[in-house]
Amino acid sequence: MNIKERLHRILATLPDGVKLVAVSKFHPAEAVEEAYNAGQRIFGESRPQEMAAKAKVLPKDIEWVMIGHLQTNKVKMIAPFVSLVASVDSERLIEEIEKQAAKNERTIDILLEVHIADEESKSGWSLSELREYLASGVLERMEHIRLRGVMTIATNTDDEAIIRRDFNNIRTIFEELKPRFGEAFDTLSIGMSDDYPIALEYGSTMVRIGTAIFGHRVYN
Ligand SMILES: *Cc1c(COP(=O)(O)O)cnc(C)c1O
Repeated sequence: MNIKERLHRILATLPDGVKLVAVSKFHPAEAVEEAYNAGQRIFGESRPQEMAAKAKVLPKDIEWVMIGHLQTNKVKMIAPFVSLVASVDSERLIEEIEKQAAKNERTIDILLEVHIADEESKSGWSLSELREYLASGVLERMEHIRLRGVMTIATNTDDEAIIRRDFNNIRTIFEELKPRFGEAFDTLSIGMSDDYPIALEYGSTMVRIGTAIFGHRVYN
C-alpha cells in the first residue's frame, strides 16, 4: 500500500467531524506532498525547524499542527504560520505564544496537553496544575490565543484496559472544562496509529496518525 491508499483507508474509518492530523515528522517533504495530493491538508510535526522548512516549500493551504514539546525560544520560528499548537504544556509557553502571535497580528489556536499516562517521562499539565492555572483566569486575557481543547498521549502499553482508563480520564476533563470555554472549545485530541480506534470510542475529535500513513520513522 502507498501513502494515498493508507490515508484513504484510515479516513474511511473516521466518523464525520473527526479531524485527521497526518503526522509527518521525520518524513521528507515529498511524503507530505504525496498525502497532500491525496487530499490531506492537516499535518503534524514535532520539531519547529523541520516544520518551518517544510512549510516553506509546500502549499500554503496546509494547516500545520505542532505536536511535540515546544521550547519557548523556538515559538517565533513557527508563529507566522502555525495553525494549532497541540502540545502546550506550560504557562511560560502560553505567554510566549501570545507574544509571538501578537507580533504576527494573528490568533493561534492551542490545545492544553494533559499528563494522564503512567510514564513520568511524558509531558503535560497534571490535573491539579491545570485546574489551578485555569482558575487564575490569565488564559482568558490572552487576546491572540484561542483555547480549542485538550490533548493527551495514552500510556504506551499493550494493556487495553490502561489505554481505556487514560482516554476515559481525558474525556472527563474535556467535558468538565467545556462549559467554561464555550463554542470554540471543541477539540479532544486522542488517538495515534496504535490506539485511534479505541480513542474514537471515547469521543476523539482529532486523531494524530503518523506510522499508519507514512510508515516507520527513521530518527536522525
Ligand atoms: C509521533 C506522534 C504521533 C503519531 O504517532 P504514530 O504512532 O506514528 O501514529 C501522535 N501524537 C504525538 C504527540 C506524537 O508525538
